[in-house]
Amino acid sequence: MKMKILVLNCGSSSLKYQLFDMDGEKVLSKGLVERIGIPGSRVKHNRGAGDPVIRENDIPDHGAAIKMVLDLLTGPETGVIKSMDEISAAGHRVVHGGEKYAESVLADDSVMRAIDECTYLAPLHNPANLAGIRAMQEALPGIPNAAVFDTAFHQTMPPEAFLYGIPYKYYEKDRVRRYSFHGTSHKFVSSRAAELLGRPIERLKLVTCHVGNGSSITAVDGGRSVDSSLGMGTSPGVIMGTRSGDLDSAVVLHLVEREGSVRRASDIINKESGVLGISGISSDMRDIFAASVEGSERAALTMNMLARSIKKYIAAYAAVMGGADAVVFTAGVGENSDTVRELSLEGLEFMGIKLDKAKNAGIHGSEAEISTPDSPVKVLVIPTNEELMIARDTLGLVKKRPDEKVCSAS
Ligand code: ADP
Repeated sequence: MKMKILVLNCGSSSLKYQLFDMDGEKVLSKGLVERIGIPGSRVKHNRGAGDPVIRENDIPDHGAAIKMVLDLLTGPETGVIKSMDEISAAGHRVVHGGEKYAESVLADDSVMRAIDECTYLAPLHNPANLAGIRAMQEALPGIPNAAVFDTAFHQTMPPEAFLYGIPYKYYEKDRVRRYSFHGTSHKFVSSRAAELLGRPIERLKLVTCHVGNGSSITAVDGGRSVDSSLGMGTSPGVIMGTRSGDLDSAVVLHLVEREGSVRRASDIINKESGVLGISGISSDMRDIFAASVEGSERAALTMNMLARSIKKYIAAYAAVMGGADAVVFTAGVGENSDTVRELSLEGLEFMGIKLDKAKNAGIHGSEAEISTPDSPVKVLVIPTNEELMIARDTLGLVKKRPDEKVCSAS
C-alpha cells in the first residue's frame, strides 16, 4: 500500500507543511508559508537536496496558501509528485480538542463543529487550524483530513491532576481545568524512549521534558499522560521563552491592578516574561548562554531559574508515578542545551539519576542516552518529530476506514 500524507500546521498567519511517503516514513518535501493575509507573503519550499525555492506572492488566506503549496508540490520545476492524486490524506495539527477528543479523528462536520466550540480555549489557534482543514477539503475534496490534537494525549490525566483548587462549579460550568499541550510531542518521544530502552511502554514510567520556546513537562505512566505542566492556558509550568511559568495568583492580580487591564497583564505574562523578562536580554537560550559566559549575572540567574523549575517538575512527577525509569529531554532547548540539561539534573542523584557529563556535553540535536551505564534512572535526548507523529496517526485512521479506496492510491 503506497501512501503519501501531507501534514499541515496552520497558524494564524503561517502554514508549515511536510509531505511524507509513509513507505519508509520519508519526508519528500517540506516548507513554510509566512505572512498569510499580511503584505510581504512568501513561501519557502524545500524538496530534498538543493536550495529551497522562495516564492513571494500575494497570499490572502489559508485557501490561497494551500493552493500554492499544492502547486509547488506538483510543479514541473519544484514538484516531488506528478499529480495531487498521489496525496492520499492530510493530517492537521489542531491545538485544542477540549475534553471531547482523547485521540486523533477524521474531520467530519461534527468534528469541525467541536473544534469550533473549543475556540474559546485556543482563540488564536483553533480558527486557523479549522481554516486549514476547510481549505484542504476544498482543494482536494476526495481525500480524508485527520485532526491531531495537541491536547488529546493528556486526556488520560485523572481529575486530581487536571482540576484546579477553585470551586468545582467552574469546572462544571465552564470546563475550567488543566488540559496541557504538546501532547503529540510527548507521545512521540515516549514511544521512541520505549523503543530505545527495549521495554514495553506499558511498563515504563517516564518524565518527558519538552523544553523549547514553549515548554511542558509530562508524567507518562504506562504510555499514558498522568500529569502535565501546562494548564488551561499556556503560561504555567516551567519558565519559557517569553511566558512566566507557574505564578501565584496574587502576582496576576497585582499586574492587572498595576497595569490597569487584563489584556495588558496577559501580554506581560505571555509575551514579556520568562527567559526574556528575567534576563532583559532575549527569549533565546543561546543568547542567554552566551551572555552568561561573558559574565552577565542576570543571564546566569535566568539559566538557574529555568533549570530549577525543570528539576522541580522532574522530581514531582517521579513522586506522582512512584518512581521513574527514564527522563527524556526534547525540543529546541532540551535537544540542544547540554548546560540546561546538566543544571536541571544536578542534585537529582538522590532519586537515581546519574548523568554522564562528558556524554551530555557532546549531544546537540541527536538521539542519545546521556546517563551513566549504572544509572538506575536513564536520561535520554530524543529529537521530537510532531509532523511524523501526525502522519502516523493519519495513516492509522485512514487504514481503519471502511472505504479502502483511498488507501490504494499510488
Ligand atoms: P517552539 O516551542 O517554538 O517549537 P523550539 O522547540 O524550536 O520552539 O525551540 C526553540 C528554542 O530552542 C529557541 O528559542 C532557543 O532558545 C532554543 N535553542 C535552539 N538551539 C539551542 C542551543 N543550541 N542551545 C540552547 N538553546 C537552543
